[in-house]
Amino acid sequence: MALVKDINCREAVSLIGNYLDGRLPRRERRRLERHLAGCDACQAYLEQMRATIILTGQVGPEDLSDQALDDLMDVFERFRRDGDEDATP
Ligand SMILES: [Zn+2]
Repeated sequence: MALVKDINCREAVSLIGNYLDGRLPRRERRRLERHLAGCDACQAYLEQMRATIILTGQVGPEDLSDQALDDLMDVFERFRRDGDEDATP
């Protein structure tokens, strides 16, 4: 039985802003890091966010609308599918 429930990509993305801001409680951070460890798409998103912050000095995930999140999930889907294709003989 898992005491820590795994999060999905949508939750991970919504946590990443606070994570980079250092505002995420330790428990949430653990869950996010656990997800990141197994999810290339969210790792890529994290790196992108980090680069954005370096460039702009700002984090904008709170500004993400549902529509923007949906778009992001589409990108993730494609990302995953491309990865699968590589793995297919
Ligand atoms: Zn993910």
